[in-house]
Amino acid sequence: MSQPILTRRSALAGAGALLAAPAILRAQIVPGGDPFALGVAAGDPAPDGFVIWTRLAPDPLGAHGGMPMAPVPVQWEVAADPRFAQAVARGEAIARPELGHAVHVEVGGLSPDRPYYYRFNVGRERSLTGRARTAPAAGSRVDRLRVASVGCQHYEDGLYTAYRHLAAEDLGFVFHYGDYIYEGRGRTRRIDYDGVPRATVRAYVGDELYDLADYRRRYAQTKLDPDLQAAHAMHAFVTTFDDHELDNNWTGDGDQDGTPPEIVLLRRQAALQAWYEHSPVRAASLPRGPAITMARRAVWGDLADFRFLDTRQFRSRPPCGDGFRPACPEVNAPGAHIIDSAQERMAALPAAGIWTVFAQQIMMMTMDRRRKVDEPAPIMNLDTWSAYAAPRERFLHNLNGRRDVIVLTGDEHQNFAGEVRDKAGRAAAIEFVSTSITSGGDGQDLRPGSDVMLANNPHLKLINDQRGYVVSDIERDGWIADYMVMDRVTTPGGLLSRRARVTVPRGEARLSVG
Ligand code: FE
Ligand code: CA
Repeated sequence: MSQPILTRRSALAGAGALLAAPAILRAQIVPGGDPFALGVAAGDPAPDGFVIWTRLAPDPLGAHGGMPMAPVPVQWEVAADPRFAQAVARGEAIARPELGHAVHVEVGGLSPDRPYYYRFNVGRERSLTGRARTAPAAGSRVDRLRVASVGCQHYEDGLYTAYRHLAAEDLGFVFHYGDYIYEGRGRTRRIDYDGVPRATVRAYVGDELYDLADYRRRYAQTKLDPDLQAAHAMHAFVTTFDDHELDNNWTGDGDQDGTPPEIVLLRRQAALQAWYEHSPVRAASLPRGPAITMARRAVWGDLADFRFLDTRQFRSRPPCGDGFRPACPEVNAPGAHIIDSAQERMAALPAAGIWTVFAQQIMMMTMDRRRKVDEPAPIMNLDTWSAYAAPRERFLHNLNGRRDVIVLTGDEHQNFAGEVRDKAGRAAAIEFVSTSITSGGDGQDLRPGSDVMLANNPHLKLINDQRGYVVSDIERDGWIADYMVMDRVTTPGGLLSRRARVTVPRGEARLSVG
């Protein structure tokens, strides 16, 4: 293990010079530990700025990331050019032990719709340089935006080569739909949907995650990956969480094991604090006890209005015992809910004349999951919107018949595209479900039984079982979704190619696959 960069002895020796801020350590560099080993990130772009993030961790997997238990000042700077000749903003932030020495700076006062560069310094150590774009000015005319949907990055299932390719894309921002970490214990073997055991590519350190130190260490291990760091350094992310940031298929204060709610909330508090600490999100998302504000909005000029939903924290428990199985009457429970009333109000007011985008975690399309012709009854994934029929129908009704509503989703570890139809069979939105960066391993073009699924789900137009991400090219008269897939993720050097291009004409809730 490497040495910590800071020592209490050196800080105490210099204490006389620190009367203005006696509790804050001045950095003294000790060779051997890069305080910026976890890289940098930017997020939540607005017309006047974005958040920049880092976390000091010279010994990323060690206790407290190798940091002394004291606040540490970190200098940051933002420039208009990658050489920092034209500095436009700089300041000092405090990396606090209460937050794992993570630093979140909300940079403001920048110009709209252009790239900026940022970096951090502590002592003589400097971070790598990150880049992020600001959003266009509110209401300004915007002709085009490219956004990628990414998520589900089980570290053990594959290499993050897709992130290396993502770093090279020309994007306004990246939407992360969650499963940034997975909470299970480290494994050398994984068992896929087909029941076949396969060797993991690399193993998580440690047992199942329960407390804050556990979650922090897993984020640190994940963020050591240079391909992931490259993607963060090149693009601002809008980061959300799904289930595995805490526990498989959790909702509200419930888990799959029937743990008492007050105990689930303790774990949720640890997990969501760690999510905050490792995500480039605004101070509005600082946790308050087990509660966190994750739902938010980003408007891209007059082109696109993104509402990022939180489908976990306020949701009632999955009906019918969860899992993949035939629906039971409980899916029609009138009192079930997926999002809270504040999000429902936000969702019920899609502005006219602008693409309205619901970027969220779980599938909104209905889907009969049968892959064999002899299975008698439709099979449902009970961790999706269609298992909550009443709030789903209310949500779709509240879209008011708008014809330019897009849903961006993840979670499934497969690519899907199709129409979100209401109970009357009317297409209320188009949904692009993005696969996974790694979860599920190499995959294949079509999982066995895909023909049965396409036949049983006429609103489903695309199905694919490879890893990768979706790039949405949003234009005034149409939406083009490119399904980018990896030929492999379990060995280095995986190649990226376009598996399908799905287009949606503006004003028509229909899609064509090319
Ligand atoms: Fe996942
Ligand atoms: Ca998930």
